[in-house]
Amino acid sequence: MDARLSRPSKPVAGARLLAPCRSQCAICRHWARQAICADCLQRYAQPAIRCWTCATRLPPGLASTPQLRCGRCLQQAPPLDRCIAALDYGFPWDDLLQRFKFHQGLELGACLVDRLDEALSCAQAARPDWLLPVPLTPQRLCERGYNQSFELARRLARRQRLKCEPDLLLRVRHTEQQARLSLQERAANVRRAFAIEPQRAKDLHGQHIALLDDVMTSGATLFELARVLRQAGASHVQAWILARTPEPDQP
Ligand SMILES: [Zn+2]
Ligand SMILES: [Zn+2]
Repeated sequence: MDARLSRPSKPVAGARLLAPCRSQCAICRHWARQAICADCLQRYAQPAIRCWTCATRLPPGLASTPQLRCGRCLQQAPPLDRCIAALDYGFPWDDLLQRFKFHQGLELGACLVDRLDEALSCAQAARPDWLLPVPLTPQRLCERGYNQSFELARRLARRQRLKCEPDLLLRVRHTEQQARLSLQERAANVRRAFAIEPQRAKDLHGQHIALLDDVMTSGATLFELARVLRQAGASHVQAWILARTPEPDQP
């Protein structure tokens, strides 16, 4: 018998590496088996009833019925078939997402993807053909070193066995950071900012696409990408987002 394949009869040096890994919870700093402890998840990651097409949180107490929409989406339907968000962009997720996005906090990735995975299963999201991250300009990708949306998308795509590529959608125009602009300015800022890689546009024809972004505020970026995809012949476009900024009048 090959000794390399046999099970050792007593602990060997290095075996402790197999023990469950514990680290400090990123929120409360207590020791935990995951990046965020079970108590903090129970406290800060409760599911909410959200609008079908923009994922804004709807008042508690509403029965969760399919295709429930907020007033704004009823007045003007966004170009999305569905929008699903895992969390509200507020304490403690705002700090954690800033860390994930700007400060190399990639160790939070698996735990963040767990939240989105749970929200998608709760919302009974339709299965897309492609999961495509919102792209960065080459300049911003170079500055940051990674695209936070692709980091989430590739993990989720692996779990759900979806096609996922970072280069199918292109950000062809450098835009002001949306966070610095008023809600009205954001739609103008991202107009004509995106394109589909010309060599691959035919691959998306007739396909069901889920876009993935870390945070959605006005929705301008995702709506613009959805328009570009529909023009290219995509049959369905969803947006899957980790955190949705609450409306100004929401607590
Ligand atoms: Zn905790
Ligand atoms: Zn809505």
